[in-house]
Amino acid sequence: MNLRNLNVEELIRFVSQKGWERYRAKQLLSWLYKRPVDSFCDITNLPKEARKELAEECELYSLSFLDKLVSRDGTVKFVFKTADGDLVESVAIPDEDRLTLCISTQIGCRMGCAFCLTGFQGFKRNLSSAEIVEQVILAQKLLGRPITNIVVMGMGEPLDNMDNTLKALSLMTHRDAMGLSPRRIVVSTVGLLPQLEHFLKEAPRVALSVSLNAPSPEKRRAIMPVEKATGMLELVEFLAEAYKNRRKPVTFEYVMLKGFNDAIEDARHLAKLLKKFKRCKVNLIPFNPWPGAPFERPDAETVLSFQKVLIESGIPTFIRKSRGADILAACGQLRWSYKEKGSA
Ligand code: SF4
Repeated sequence: MNLRNLNVEELIRFVSQKGWERYRAKQLLSWLYKRPVDSFCDITNLPKEARKELAEECELYSLSFLDKLVSRDGTVKFVFKTADGDLVESVAIPDEDRLTLCISTQIGCRMGCAFCLTGFQGFKRNLSSAEIVEQVILAQKLLGRPITNIVVMGMGEPLDNMDNTLKALSLMTHRDAMGLSPRRIVVSTVGLLPQLEHFLKEAPRVALSVSLNAPSPEKRRAIMPVEKATGMLELVEFLAEAYKNRRKPVTFEYVMLKGFNDAIEDARHLAKLLKKFKRCKVNLIPFNPWPGAPFERPDAETVLSFQKVLIESGIPTFIRKSRGADILAACGQLRWSYKEKGSA
Protein backbone atom coordinates (compact mmCIF):
# COMPACT_ATOMS: atom_id res chain seq x y z
CA MET A 1 0.00 0.00 0.00
CA ASN A 2 1.20 3.50 -0.85
CA LEU A 3 -0.29 6.34 1.22
CA ARG A 4 -0.10 8.66 -1.80
CA ASN A 5 -2.91 6.60 -3.30
CA LEU A 6 -5.20 8.06 -0.62
CA ASN A 7 -6.68 11.54 -0.89
CA VAL A 8 -6.73 13.74 2.21
CA GLU A 9 -10.12 12.46 3.46
CA GLU A 10 -9.04 8.84 2.91
CA LEU A 11 -5.80 9.44 4.80
CA ILE A 12 -7.76 10.93 7.72
CA ARG A 13 -9.91 7.75 7.72
CA PHE A 14 -6.79 5.57 7.57
CA VAL A 15 -5.37 7.34 10.62
CA SER A 16 -8.62 7.03 12.57
CA GLN A 17 -8.91 3.29 11.71
CA LYS A 18 -5.47 2.86 13.24
CA GLY A 19 -6.80 4.48 16.42
CA TRP A 20 -4.36 7.40 16.13
CA GLU A 21 -5.27 11.04 16.88
CA ARG A 22 -6.65 13.02 13.93
CA TYR A 23 -3.74 15.49 13.88
CA ARG A 24 -1.46 12.59 12.89
CA ALA A 25 -3.00 12.77 9.39
CA LYS A 26 -1.77 16.35 8.99
CA GLN A 27 1.68 15.35 10.19
CA LEU A 28 1.79 12.45 7.74
CA LEU A 29 0.67 14.69 4.85
CA SER A 30 3.48 17.06 5.62
CA TRP A 31 6.09 14.26 5.52
CA LEU A 32 4.61 12.80 2.36
CA TYR A 33 4.31 16.04 0.36
CA LYS A 34 5.94 19.11 1.90
CA ARG A 35 9.17 17.63 3.32
CA PRO A 36 9.14 14.16 1.78
CA VAL A 37 11.23 11.65 3.71
CA ASP A 38 13.11 8.62 2.35
CA SER A 39 12.10 6.29 5.16
CA PHE A 40 9.19 6.04 7.60
CA CYS A 41 11.85 5.99 10.36
CA ASP A 42 12.58 9.65 9.51
CA ILE A 43 9.08 10.77 10.52
CA THR A 44 10.40 12.06 13.80
CA ASN A 45 7.17 13.40 15.31
CA LEU A 46 5.36 10.07 14.98
CA PRO A 47 5.65 7.53 17.86
CA LYS A 48 8.16 4.73 17.20
CA GLU A 49 5.42 2.07 17.18
CA ALA A 50 3.45 3.96 14.50
CA ARG A 51 6.55 4.36 12.33
CA LYS A 52 7.24 0.63 12.61
CA GLU A 53 3.65 -0.18 11.68
CA LEU A 54 3.81 2.06 8.60
CA ALA A 55 7.13 0.59 7.49
CA GLU A 56 5.67 -2.92 7.73
CA GLU A 57 2.43 -2.13 5.91
CA CYS A 58 3.28 0.58 3.37
CA GLU A 59 5.75 1.40 0.66
CA LEU A 60 6.99 4.99 0.64
CA TYR A 61 7.62 5.31 -3.10
CA SER A 62 6.05 3.60 -6.11
CA LEU A 63 8.61 5.13 -8.48
CA SER A 64 12.38 5.12 -8.37
CA PHE A 65 14.77 7.38 -10.25
CA LEU A 66 16.45 5.64 -13.19
CA ASP A 67 18.08 8.30 -15.36
CA LYS A 68 18.09 11.92 -16.44
CA LEU A 69 19.25 13.78 -19.50
CA VAL A 70 20.12 17.47 -19.29
CA SER A 71 19.74 19.64 -22.38
CA ARG A 72 21.97 22.55 -23.37
CA ASP A 73 18.92 24.81 -22.84
CA GLY A 74 18.50 23.60 -19.21
CA THR A 75 15.57 21.23 -19.85
CA VAL A 76 15.88 18.02 -17.83
CA LYS A 77 14.22 14.80 -18.89
CA PHE A 78 13.71 12.23 -16.11
CA VAL A 79 13.03 8.53 -16.45
CA PHE A 80 11.47 6.86 -13.44
CA LYS A 81 11.02 3.14 -12.99
CA THR A 82 7.75 1.65 -11.73
CA ALA A 83 7.57 -1.29 -9.30
CA ASP A 84 6.50 -3.54 -12.21
CA GLY A 85 9.57 -2.55 -14.23
CA ASP A 86 8.11 -0.08 -16.72
CA LEU A 87 9.24 3.48 -17.37
CA VAL A 88 7.63 6.87 -16.84
CA GLU A 89 8.89 10.13 -18.33
CA SER A 90 8.71 13.65 -16.85
CA VAL A 91 10.35 16.80 -18.20
CA ALA A 92 11.47 19.80 -16.13
CA ILE A 93 11.58 23.12 -17.99
CA PRO A 94 13.31 25.97 -16.17
CA ASP A 95 12.37 29.49 -17.21
CA GLU A 96 13.58 32.56 -15.28
CA ASP A 97 11.46 32.51 -12.09
CA ARG A 98 9.50 29.31 -12.84
CA LEU A 99 10.24 25.64 -12.93
CA THR A 100 7.59 23.75 -14.87
CA LEU A 101 7.28 19.98 -14.74
CA CYS A 102 5.51 18.07 -17.52
CA ILE A 103 4.13 14.85 -16.03
CA SER A 104 2.62 11.60 -17.37
CA THR A 105 -0.65 9.94 -16.36
CA GLN A 106 -0.40 6.62 -18.20
CA ILE A 107 2.23 4.21 -19.48
CA GLY A 108 1.66 4.52 -23.20
CA CYS A 109 -1.64 5.86 -24.48
CA ARG A 110 -4.82 4.50 -26.05
CA MET A 111 -5.54 7.58 -28.17
CA GLY A 112 -3.18 6.65 -31.01
CA CYS A 113 -2.53 10.15 -32.40
CA ALA A 114 -0.53 9.61 -35.61
CA PHE A 115 2.08 12.28 -34.82
CA CYS A 116 2.86 11.01 -31.31
CA LEU A 117 5.48 8.43 -30.40
CA THR A 118 3.68 7.57 -27.15
CA GLY A 119 0.51 6.85 -29.13
CA PHE A 120 2.57 4.75 -31.54
CA GLN A 121 3.84 2.63 -28.63
CA GLY A 122 0.31 1.64 -27.59
CA PHE A 123 -1.26 1.48 -24.13
CA LYS A 124 0.14 -0.44 -21.19
CA ARG A 125 -1.67 0.79 -18.07
CA ASN A 126 -2.88 3.73 -16.03
CA LEU A 127 -0.55 5.32 -13.50
CA SER A 128 -1.78 5.35 -9.89
CA SER A 129 -2.21 8.70 -8.15
CA ALA A 130 0.99 7.91 -6.19
CA GLU A 131 2.89 7.39 -9.44
CA ILE A 132 1.54 10.69 -10.78
CA VAL A 133 2.37 12.87 -7.74
CA GLU A 134 5.70 11.15 -7.09
CA GLN A 135 6.98 12.48 -10.43
CA VAL A 136 6.69 15.96 -8.88
CA ILE A 137 8.14 14.92 -5.52
CA LEU A 138 11.14 13.11 -7.04
CA ALA A 139 11.86 15.84 -9.61
CA GLN A 140 11.90 18.44 -6.80
CA LYS A 141 14.28 16.31 -4.76
CA LEU A 142 16.59 15.65 -7.70
CA LEU A 143 16.63 19.27 -8.85
CA GLY A 144 16.90 20.67 -5.32
CA ARG A 145 14.30 23.37 -5.95
CA PRO A 146 10.49 23.56 -5.90
CA ILE A 147 8.37 22.92 -8.97
CA THR A 148 6.27 26.07 -9.48
CA ASN A 149 4.05 24.93 -12.37
CA ILE A 150 2.75 21.60 -13.58
CA VAL A 151 1.59 20.67 -17.06
CA VAL A 152 -0.16 17.33 -17.42
CA MET A 153 1.00 16.84 -21.00
CA GLY A 154 3.36 13.86 -20.81
CA MET A 155 2.57 10.27 -21.70
CA GLY A 156 -1.12 9.39 -21.71
CA GLU A 157 -4.54 10.98 -21.89
CA PRO A 158 -5.41 12.30 -18.39
CA LEU A 159 -9.18 11.99 -18.86
CA ASP A 160 -8.73 8.33 -19.81
CA ASN A 161 -7.34 7.86 -16.28
CA MET A 162 -9.91 10.13 -14.66
CA ASP A 163 -10.03 8.91 -11.05
CA ASN A 164 -6.27 8.77 -10.50
CA THR A 165 -5.69 12.07 -12.31
CA LEU A 166 -8.33 13.83 -10.20
CA LYS A 167 -6.95 12.30 -7.01
CA ALA A 168 -3.40 13.38 -7.93
CA LEU A 169 -4.62 16.91 -8.73
CA SER A 170 -6.43 17.11 -5.39
CA LEU A 171 -3.20 16.12 -3.60
CA MET A 172 -1.16 18.65 -5.58
CA THR A 173 -3.55 21.47 -4.68
CA HIS A 174 -4.69 20.62 -1.12
CA ARG A 175 -3.12 23.05 1.34
CA ASP A 176 -2.19 20.25 3.76
CA ALA A 177 -0.56 18.22 0.97
CA MET A 178 1.48 19.83 -1.83
CA GLY A 179 -0.40 23.14 -1.67
CA LEU A 180 0.10 24.32 -5.27
CA SER A 181 -2.36 26.81 -6.69
CA PRO A 182 -4.66 25.15 -9.27
CA ARG A 183 -3.98 28.16 -11.47
CA ARG A 184 -0.44 26.86 -11.84
CA ILE A 185 -1.59 23.54 -13.28
CA VAL A 186 -2.57 22.89 -16.89
CA VAL A 187 -4.20 19.65 -17.99
CA SER A 188 -3.95 18.80 -21.66
CA THR A 189 -6.59 16.57 -23.24
CA VAL A 190 -7.84 15.41 -26.62
CA GLY A 191 -11.26 16.41 -25.26
CA LEU A 192 -13.15 13.18 -24.58
CA LEU A 193 -16.86 13.71 -24.01
CA PRO A 194 -18.60 13.16 -21.58
CA GLN A 195 -15.44 12.78 -19.43
CA LEU A 196 -14.57 16.44 -20.00
CA GLU A 197 -17.87 17.55 -18.47
CA HIS A 198 -17.10 15.55 -15.32
CA PHE A 199 -13.55 16.88 -15.19
CA LEU A 200 -14.64 20.53 -15.41
CA LYS A 201 -17.05 19.94 -12.50
CA GLU A 202 -14.45 18.20 -10.34
CA ALA A 203 -11.43 20.42 -11.09
CA PRO A 204 -12.95 23.75 -12.15
CA ARG A 205 -9.93 25.89 -11.29
CA VAL A 206 -7.33 23.87 -13.14
CA ALA A 207 -6.49 25.30 -16.58
CA LEU A 208 -7.45 23.23 -19.60
CA SER A 209 -5.63 22.87 -22.88
CA VAL A 210 -7.45 21.01 -25.64
CA SER A 211 -5.50 19.25 -28.35
CA LEU A 212 -7.29 20.15 -31.61
CA ASN A 213 -4.52 19.78 -34.23
CA ALA A 214 -6.75 20.12 -37.30
CA PRO A 215 -9.02 22.72 -38.87
CA SER A 216 -11.72 20.23 -39.91
CA PRO A 217 -13.18 16.89 -38.75
CA GLU A 218 -11.88 15.18 -41.92
CA LYS A 219 -8.29 16.20 -41.24
CA ARG A 220 -8.57 15.49 -37.52
CA ARG A 221 -9.94 12.00 -38.18
CA ALA A 222 -6.84 11.28 -40.29
CA ILE A 223 -4.45 11.94 -37.38
CA MET A 224 -6.57 11.48 -34.25
CA PRO A 225 -8.73 8.33 -33.96
CA VAL A 226 -10.59 10.01 -31.05
CA GLU A 227 -12.42 12.15 -33.62
CA LYS A 228 -14.66 9.13 -34.27
CA ALA A 229 -15.80 9.08 -30.63
CA THR A 230 -15.87 12.82 -29.92
CA GLY A 231 -16.16 14.98 -33.02
CA MET A 232 -14.33 18.31 -32.89
CA LEU A 233 -17.45 20.28 -33.87
CA GLU A 234 -19.36 18.84 -30.91
CA LEU A 235 -16.31 19.42 -28.70
CA VAL A 236 -15.98 23.08 -29.74
CA GLU A 237 -19.73 23.65 -29.15
CA PHE A 238 -19.46 22.10 -25.70
CA LEU A 239 -16.40 24.17 -24.75
CA ALA A 240 -17.86 27.44 -26.06
CA GLU A 241 -20.85 26.89 -23.77
CA ALA A 242 -18.79 25.66 -20.79
CA TYR A 243 -16.38 28.63 -21.01
CA LYS A 244 -19.04 31.30 -21.63
CA ASN A 245 -18.86 32.54 -18.05
CA ARG A 246 -15.40 31.46 -17.01
CA ARG A 247 -12.72 34.01 -16.33
CA LYS A 248 -9.87 31.92 -17.72
CA PRO A 249 -10.01 31.23 -21.45
CA VAL A 250 -9.64 27.72 -22.84
CA THR A 251 -6.41 27.03 -24.72
CA PHE A 252 -6.22 25.01 -27.92
CA GLU A 253 -3.08 23.17 -28.94
CA TYR A 254 -2.33 22.77 -32.59
CA VAL A 255 0.58 20.52 -33.58
CA MET A 256 1.74 21.82 -36.96
CA LEU A 257 2.58 19.09 -39.45
CA LYS A 258 4.36 20.06 -42.66
CA GLY A 259 2.11 19.91 -45.71
CA PHE A 260 -0.81 18.47 -43.74
CA ASN A 261 -2.38 21.15 -41.55
CA ASP A 262 -0.08 24.16 -41.93
CA ALA A 263 -1.57 25.96 -44.94
CA ILE A 264 -3.01 29.48 -44.80
CA GLU A 265 -6.37 27.95 -45.74
CA ASP A 266 -6.14 25.70 -42.64
CA ALA A 267 -5.46 28.75 -40.47
CA ARG A 268 -8.53 30.52 -41.91
CA HIS A 269 -10.74 27.46 -41.22
CA LEU A 270 -9.43 27.25 -37.68
CA ALA A 271 -10.02 30.97 -37.06
CA LYS A 272 -13.61 30.61 -38.31
CA LEU A 273 -14.23 27.64 -36.04
CA LEU A 274 -12.88 29.43 -32.96
CA LYS A 275 -15.01 32.55 -33.57
CA LYS A 276 -17.60 30.86 -31.31
CA PHE A 277 -15.48 31.73 -28.26
CA LYS A 278 -15.68 35.01 -26.44
CA ARG A 279 -12.06 34.37 -25.48
CA CYS A 280 -9.69 31.55 -26.31
CA LYS A 281 -6.01 31.08 -26.98
CA VAL A 282 -4.06 28.96 -29.44
CA ASN A 283 -0.65 27.39 -28.91
CA LEU A 284 1.03 26.39 -32.15
CA ILE A 285 3.43 23.49 -31.65
CA PRO A 286 5.74 22.89 -34.63
CA PHE A 287 6.04 19.09 -34.85
CA ASN A 288 8.96 17.63 -32.90
CA PRO A 289 10.22 14.81 -35.19
CA TRP A 290 11.15 11.36 -33.86
CA PRO A 291 12.88 8.54 -35.79
CA GLY A 292 10.47 6.99 -38.28
CA ALA A 293 7.80 9.67 -37.77
CA PRO A 294 5.35 10.00 -40.66
CA PHE A 295 5.45 13.81 -40.52
CA GLU A 296 7.98 16.62 -40.75
CA ARG A 297 8.32 19.94 -39.01
CA PRO A 298 7.14 22.97 -40.99
CA ASP A 299 9.62 25.79 -41.53
CA ALA A 300 9.58 28.87 -39.32
CA GLU A 301 8.12 31.11 -42.02
CA THR A 302 5.09 28.83 -42.52
CA VAL A 303 4.45 28.78 -38.76
CA LEU A 304 4.66 32.59 -38.57
CA SER A 305 2.24 33.04 -41.50
CA PHE A 306 -0.23 30.65 -39.83
CA GLN A 307 0.06 32.56 -36.57
CA LYS A 308 -0.52 35.88 -38.37
CA VAL A 309 -3.88 34.72 -39.79
CA LEU A 310 -5.11 33.73 -36.31
CA ILE A 311 -3.88 36.92 -34.66
CA GLU A 312 -5.50 39.05 -37.36
CA SER A 313 -8.75 37.20 -36.57
CA GLY A 314 -8.45 38.36 -32.97
CA ILE A 315 -7.23 35.06 -31.48
CA PRO A 316 -4.17 35.34 -29.20
CA THR A 317 -1.79 32.80 -30.72
CA PHE A 318 1.60 31.71 -29.45
CA ILE A 319 4.31 29.53 -30.91
CA ARG A 320 5.63 26.99 -28.44
CA LYS A 321 9.41 27.08 -28.20
CA SER A 322 11.00 23.72 -28.81
CA ARG A 323 12.91 22.77 -25.66
CA GLY A 324 15.38 19.96 -25.05
CA ALA A 325 15.80 19.09 -28.75
CA ASP A 326 19.19 17.48 -27.95
CA ILE A 327 17.81 15.08 -25.28
CA LEU A 328 15.12 12.98 -26.99
CA ALA A 329 12.53 15.58 -26.11
CA ALA A 330 9.54 14.17 -28.04
CA CYS A 331 6.98 12.70 -25.66
CA GLY A 332 7.74 8.99 -25.15
CA GLN A 333 11.09 9.10 -26.97
CA LEU A 334 13.31 8.34 -24.00
CA ARG A 335 11.12 5.47 -22.82
CA TRP A 336 11.17 4.14 -26.38
CA SER A 337 14.97 4.29 -26.58
CA TYR A 338 15.22 2.28 -23.32
CA LYS A 339 12.76 -0.28 -24.64
CA GLU A 340 14.74 -0.57 -27.90
CA LYS A 341 17.92 -1.19 -25.92
CA GLY A 342 16.01 -3.79 -23.89
CA SER A 343 17.05 -2.15 -20.64
CA ALA A 344 13.56 -2.08 -19.14
S1 SF4 B 1 -0.73 13.13 -28.23
FE1 SF4 B 1 -1.40 12.73 -26.13
S2 SF4 B 1 -3.41 11.77 -26.41
FE2 SF4 B 1 -2.40 11.64 -28.41
S3 SF4 B 1 -1.40 9.62 -28.39
FE3 SF4 B 1 0.10 11.13 -27.63
S4 SF4 B 1 -0.07 11.04 -25.41
FE4 SF4 B 1 -1.92 10.12 -26.27
